[in-house]
Parts: sequence; structure tokens; C-alpha cells
Amino acid sequence: MPINPIKSLGFSPCGMFFWGKARTRLHNWKKSQKTMIELKRIRRAPCLAAGPLLIACVVWAAQAPTPKILATSSVSLELNAGKQVPALVRIKGPAGLLLVNRQEETLPAAIELDGATVPLAWQHRPALDITTARHVVFVYESDNPHLRLRWEWEARAEFGPVEHRISIENLSGREVWLPMVDSLRLDWSTDANNSLRNLYVEKGAGSPSPQGTHLDTVSDGYHWTGVSSTYAFSENGGPREIIPAEFIFDAARPQAGWYAGVEFSGRTRISLERSGQSLKSILGLNPDPGPFRTRIEPGGSFETPTIFLGAFLGGVDGAGNQLRPWVRAVLNNPLTWKDPHYPLTVNNSWGSGMRVDESLARRMIGDSKELGLELFGLDAGWFRGVGDWYPNPKKFPHGLAAIADEAHRQGLRFGIWVDWTQAALDTEPGALNVRDPKVKDWLVADLKPDWKPEDFKGQTIDIGAPAARDYAAHEVKRMVEDYKLDMLEHDGYLVAQGCVRDDHPHAPPNMSTAQVHHNWGADIVHDANSTDVSYHAVRAYYGIYEQLRKEHPGLLFEICNDGGRMVDFGSAAHGDYFSITDTYDPLSNRRAFYDTSHVLPAAMLESYVEKWATPHIENFRYMLRSGMMGWLTVMLDTTQWTPEQHDAARSAIALYKQELRPLIRDARLYHVSERPDGVHWDGIEYWDQARAKGVVFAFRGTVVDQPEHRFVLAGLDPEKRYRLHFQDGTALDSEAAGKDLMAQGLTVRLPQTYSSELVFLTEATAGK
Ligand SMILES: [Zn+2]
Repeated sequence: MPINPIKSLGFSPCGMFFWGKARTRLHNWKKSQKTMIELKRIRRAPCLAAGPLLIACVVWAAQAPTPKILATSSVSLELNAGKQVPALVRIKGPAGLLLVNRQEETLPAAIELDGATVPLAWQHRPALDITTARHVVFVYESDNPHLRLRWEWEARAEFGPVEHRISIENLSGREVWLPMVDSLRLDWSTDANNSLRNLYVEKGAGSPSPQGTHLDTVSDGYHWTGVSSTYAFSENGGPREIIPAEFIFDAARPQAGWYAGVEFSGRTRISLERSGQSLKSILGLNPDPGPFRTRIEPGGSFETPTIFLGAFLGGVDGAGNQLRPWVRAVLNNPLTWKDPHYPLTVNNSWGSGMRVDESLARRMIGDSKELGLELFGLDAGWFRGVGDWYPNPKKFPHGLAAIADEAHRQGLRFGIWVDWTQAALDTEPGALNVRDPKVKDWLVADLKPDWKPEDFKGQTIDIGAPAARDYAAHEVKRMVEDYKLDMLEHDGYLVAQGCVRDDHPHAPPNMSTAQVHHNWGADIVHDANSTDVSYHAVRAYYGIYEQLRKEHPGLLFEICNDGGRMVDFGSAAHGDYFSITDTYDPLSNRRAFYDTSHVLPAAMLESYVEKWATPHIENFRYMLRSGMMGWLTVMLDTTQWTPEQHDAARSAIALYKQELRPLIRDARLYHVSERPDGVHWDGIEYWDQARAKGVVFAFRGTVVDQPEHRFVLAGLDPEKRYRLHFQDGTALDSEAAGKDLMAQGLTVRLPQTYSSELVFLTEATAGK
């Protein structure tokens, strides 16, 4: 029998209220034990051995809170409601994964009331708790001032991660100011010898960086912070913004690990820090620049960004193959997925830039129909001016509803680009004019007298201000209805982060430290209030889209934001697809897809295909297919294609709709190559177990001495055989064993550089 750990801790058995403090040492002892059951037996042992203390121990046992278990098929959490603080005690995952949290929750220690700091004393209110198998809420209250804190965990699907948030309601009848409250603070007990790794991916913001997908070694002393915001700036030399999620595993056991992410588009951060036997991670709003403070009105509340926490099996792609379906099931709009045409194929006018007009639109709609495309998107250039979102009468004398009617007549859907929080200089009725005193008070910064907008960029209004929000909500609704939209694309620096106004709901600025940067038409504020500004503005943005979705079921929202600058899990819950980069050549499209597809459903990931040199038809297909692994948007003048290119595109689009789209929607996705570099080969595999079908997208870069490449596949059954069909006929159709495809690999031969192939796989025993 093991040595009694309680005895070694040196306090009496009935000192077990100190269990929390002693937990760390117990955990260290526990590592030498084989099972949790054994630990529970030992934990009870002192009571059995103590004789005279037995009764007291029984009383303790009756009073001790029983941990609540919240579980999905992928992860199980043990949650404890202490008298003053709750705790996430441990999580269990597949393959024996067990993580013990060394830290109880940190509830806010004080608030600010009438300029004075008031310490808070939190007490558990068990009568207000909710504890079901899928939903656990522990409620704590402070009496003076009267605040109610809900510490909430929820499993919204049978599988995948669970979600967590903290909300604080102000019942005091007076305005209070709250300091930073993190969404989740973890301090896993970890073996100092474990070789940990952290995988995270960058936003494709503007242009994908050379790295994009990061796999850090988490050694002792590692300290990483990844940030995300409503508009990712590519600051010189600074770290890029991330799609806010982290995936951590032991390199010696790379198949199992844990992951967490943030479901909010405001300024957020994830940090990960390793020191000795401690692995700390904090998720939530970004405290920098600080100090953060946020106002809670009487009767109002503050809610931390929701986070998700899960455990995985099957390596990083295993994590993605759990997270992506979970995003679809829990965060995405169910109506969108009911549409079998999702993800749609689109023809977008930006290939002609701002030079759009009615005749171009009608010509593009006609050619879209001929090519089999399903939506015509009218990009920037259709409006009278920035902030003046009415059709330019010289370009569109019959208005936009006439264009929508034409698209609908041809069986296409219709959408437009708009940057609906931008104000500029137009003075016509309906225009958002920066000199209008009402509008001036909505702008995030004062503008110089000689300020001018860019062609399609103006100054951002802060929709966190209720009057600005109401205006924007009304304006967006008007456009959707008047222009008969099936899709609304929002762009640019739409949602504020940082604002100089002191009469908005967010914290006032510190004008002695606030910095205003001029960036391509817009003034952007960096201040201690930036995170609070983004908190309010993002909630307003979500509210506007939630309302629009209610009023217009089936309306699609594209999140563009200058190509992938607002890609996060909060946006995924309020929009339908993301422009993942603003650089549209084949390599950039594949790089952005490679990165982003680690964490978000492939159907949501839009690649714009722009004009690119295609001397051979193989180059043309390579260009198209580089944008066909997720949502395809063609962004060039298709009427200038040669007849051969037209035929190739028509076939490629038909094949996409017939064969690729069902896989993009439903199949598992595997990154079966290194990240694309444009030189070597790269590829993506889809495998749909339910249909017993899959496909490998194979791309050859400029490498001259490697006409063939072997892709080592994943997710197949080693015992089964698979039929291989080479779409372009670069090899004869054949059959191969699953175990060979997953060990030696699938060989693809392509004689030309910048060419591609689609290799379809079908289980040999499954039909035809
Ligand atoms: Zn503001």
C-alpha cells in the first residue's frame, strides 16, 4: 500500500478544508499512482484510521461539495463549487489524458465605486446554481456592493469541447467599474520531462506570412501570447494576429492533447507559459494596453468572452476534425448548412476594381450562369460615395434592385460589398457625413479639417454607442431589403477598437497617453480603453447581425475585413464565410487555406481567384483549384477567357458542385504535406467515412527535378482497399491498400510545373 499522502502533508484529517491548498502536493503524489480510484480510496483513509476524529470527518464529508462532472464524448470536466471560489479541478480526455488544474478560479478582488476601491467578498449561493448533465452554473454573490457572478460551463454538442464564461450582474443600484476578468485561467500540473508543443495559426490578414502555421516547442521558461482583434494590423516585424486558439500536446505522445480558443471578435489574447511543473494558460480579453476597466450600469452586466476547452486524439488533424464539425454544429447558422448549395460558387466584380456599372454587372451575370456559378457579388464601386450607400446613378441608372432581379431571373443569388460603419464627406440625404455634429460624436477620433476618405475607405463610427448602433442597424436593414440582397459582405476596419469619446458606454480615453494612427483613410486609436471599446462595439455588431438573421433567414454574411483580418470564432458564430486573405495568387490562397483549415470548417474559407498568368491549361486548372478547397469566389473577367479556358472552368465548377462540395462540407480534412511554398509539392486530403469517398488535391510548384511526389494519406482503414481515379488522367485508374496509402503514400506524377491533379478515392468494397 502506498504511503499515506495526507499524513505526509502534516495536518489533521479534519483540516481537509485546506484540500485546495494541499492539492498540488497530492497531485505530485498522485503521479505515482495508477488510477484515480486509488487516489479516492487514499483520500478517505485518514477518516477510517483516525478513531476519535471519525465523526468529525463524516461531518466534513457531508459538507464537502461534490464535484460536478460535465462531459461530452471527447472530454470530461470535474468542477467544484468552493465556499468562496469555484474551481475547474481536472479534465480527462481520450487515451488516458488527465490534466489536473493547480489553480482555483480568481474572482475579481475589488471594484471601483464612486472613485474608491471597494474590496469584494464572494460567497457561494448554492440555491441559485444550475447543475444538469450538460450545463453547470455556480453562482457567487458579493453583498457590498450587491453583485452576482455566474461561473458557467456548457456542453452544447454531444461531442467536442465545452464552453465557459463568467458573467457579473450589478444588483447594487449604483454604477460600478470592474477590472479585468479573464475568461479562463489554467495552471496544469505537468511533468517537467514532457516535450510539449503548441500549435497555433495566424490570420491570413492582408497576405499570409511565410510561416502561418506555428508549432512551438514549449520548453521550461516558454512564454507566448497570441492576440486577436477586430482588425489585424500587420505591424512591422511584430507578431501576426492569430485565429484565437491553441493546441497543446506532448511530442512523445503526439496523438493526444488539449485545446482551447476564444469565441469573440474583440481584442482578446491567449497566453501560455511553462515553468517547472506548471503549465499556465490564460484566455480572455486582452489586458494590453491597460489598465482595463469597464463600466457596469445598475441592472447591467459584464460577460467575459466565451471560451471553449477540449481534448483530442489523432494529432493536430484529429483536433481539427473534432473542432471543425463542432464549430458547424454549435457556432454556425444551422439554416446556412441546410442549404445544399453551401458553400456557394461566386463571381465577384472586384477583378474590374471600382469600374463597375450596370452593363458589366449584366454581362457578368450572363457569364456566371453559363459557367454554372451561383452568386453574383457586386464589390466596391457601386455606391455614390463612402458612407453614402446608395447606387451611383451614373453607373446604375436603374438601381441595384434591378441587378438583383436580373441575377434572380438567371437563377443566381445576389450580394454586395459594403463597409457599413464608415463615414466620409458626402452630403446627400442618407449619407453618413463626418462633419454632421451627430455623426462627429460617433467617430472614434476627431478628424483634421483637410481629411479626405480613400476610394472605399472612410472613418469608423463606434457602434458601441447606442445611437450609432441604431443608425447602422437601420442602414444595413435598408440595404438588405431595398437591394434585395441574398448576401452582404462587410469589409475594412468595421468594428472599433479604441475611441477618444468620453460619452460612449465604454471607458473614457486617457488623452495623455492615447495614440491615433492614420491608416489608409481611417484614424485608429490605441489607448487603455481599446479593449473595452472593442468589447462594446463587437457586442453591438453581433446584435445587428443576430437581428438581421431573424428578419431575413437565409441571408448570407461574408466577413471580409480586408482579407482575413477578423477571422475568429465569434465571427464564425455571426457570419457564414470568411475571406481568408487579401492576396489572391494560387500560393497565397493555398497558404491561407492550409493555415485556417486547422481550426475552421473548410466550407467557411473563401479564396478569391484573381487573374494570374496561365499559358497552359494545366496552369489555369492549378489556379482555379488553388481556390477550390473551400468556398470558391472567382474574381476576374471571365468573358476574357479563351474558349478552352471557359470549357475547363465550366467543367471544374461542375465537378466542384457534384463531387468536391459534398466533401468540403462533410469530410474529414488532413494536411498531407508541408505548408505550401510554391516550390515543392503540397496537398490536402478529404476523406468522408460516411460516403466512403475522398479526394486528394495535389499541387506541384516550380521544383524542376521532382516530377512525382508521394502523399502519405491519413484517416483510411489499413485493412481496406481503395479505388483511385485521377481526374486529369495523369495516371491510369488503379487500386491500392489503405495500409500502403497511409505508409508508402499515394504517388502523383505531374510533368509540368504549376500544375495540379485531383485524385478521387473510393472504398473498393463500397459499390460501383
Ligand atoms: Zn466610442
